[in-house]
Amino acid sequence: MFFKKETQNCVIIGSGPAGYSAAIYAARANMNPILFTGVQPGGQLTTTTDVDNYLGFPEGVNGNDLMNNCKKQAERFNTKIINQSVNHVVLSNIKGGTHRIFLDGKKCIESRGVIVATGSTPKFVGINKEKKFIGLGVSFCATCDGFFHKEKNVAVVGGGDTALEEANYLAKICKKVYLIVRKNYFKASKILQYRILRKKNIKVFFCSNVTEIIGDNFLEGIKIFNQKTETSKNILISGLFIAIGHVPNTEIFKNELDLDEKGYIVVQKGKTITSKPGVFAAGDVQDPDYRQAITSAGTGCMAALDLEKYLSLYLESIT
Ligand SMILES: Cc1cc2nc3c(=O)[nH]c(=O)nc-3n(C[C@H](O)[C@H](O)[C@H](O)COP(=O)(O)OP(=O)(O)OC[C@H]3O[C@@H](n4cnc5c(N)ncnc54)[C@H](O)[C@@H]3O)c2cc1C
Repeated sequence: MFFKKETQNCVIIGSGPAGYSAAIYAARANMNPILFTGVQPGGQLTTTTDVDNYLGFPEGVNGNDLMNNCKKQAERFNTKIINQSVNHVVLSNIKGGTHRIFLDGKKCIESRGVIVATGSTPKFVGINKEKKFIGLGVSFCATCDGFFHKEKNVAVVGGGDTALEEANYLAKICKKVYLIVRKNYFKASKILQYRILRKKNIKVFFCSNVTEIIGDNFLEGIKIFNQKTETSKNILISGLFIAIGHVPNTEIFKNELDLDEKGYIVVQKGKTITSKPGVFAAGDVQDPDYRQAITSAGTGCMAALDLEKYLSLYLESIT
């Protein structure tokens, strides 16, 4: 077996910026972390091309290159990286207790400390070329990719708070923002609606769906269908921002950790401490608000430091 049979001190679940950042800090603090990558080694950033807002890369960096470097850095400090998913967990309620992490084939690893960094998954509209054109015009993050569309026309899909926030942000950078809303009303808060409806360069299409992405090698436009008039029209845009929500990857923690109403792991304010002692959460899985690579890496660091503190309190009494 890749890991020793004895109880571990630090198991990290997830290999995005949060997981690798936690691994680097945990390894350098002699916690001998074991990190499970899951089915998407490197996390969400491996699905995009250019990352322009991650600190330290004045020319920007390719998402895959960034995550390969994070992996290499974690390996440099002897993090054990295992290309497997965690299927099931049994988390102890006892301070200093042992948590059990189950893998494929019912293999089990025991650890006093667990860092959950399983991230989130953006929801897709479900149309052709949507996945193929991620980073080629299709985006899930205005803060990340809005700048690439400066002075150009873009569209945002969604009618909730996130969509209206994205549209509001893009309206400051882009020439025109088309907001495509499936219902005949916004789900977003009144204050956001008020802001959006006042913006001259935002045009709202209610009762409308995006039915097609136009372009052969990259996104050049979209076709939208109006359910009321039953007519379709093409809109030429350089960017399509899908803002219909994210699903936190917390299925395996449902009965083990406190989750909020959207399924995000609840952590103590300003900390990464979850509802179970010795279990910490970092990155998108506990963050419905910021969802950035840098904030994920930041909370990954925090989780390792929180775990180190926890172990130093309980380790003496349990070894
Ligand atoms: C297309 C796209 C472009 C983006 N561009 C930018 C950008 O330019 N700048 C920016 O700051 N942010 C960007 N983001 C957001 C950024 O990618 C996320 O905020 C960040 O990746 C979250 O990091 P994370 O470590 O929390 O989780 P993720 O990156 O989501 O990684 C989660 C990890 O957990 C693993 N995992 C899940 N379940 C299990 C399990 N059961 N067992 C083991 N492992 C598991 C997955 O395999 C994955 O490795 C972008 C997101 C997308 C989708």
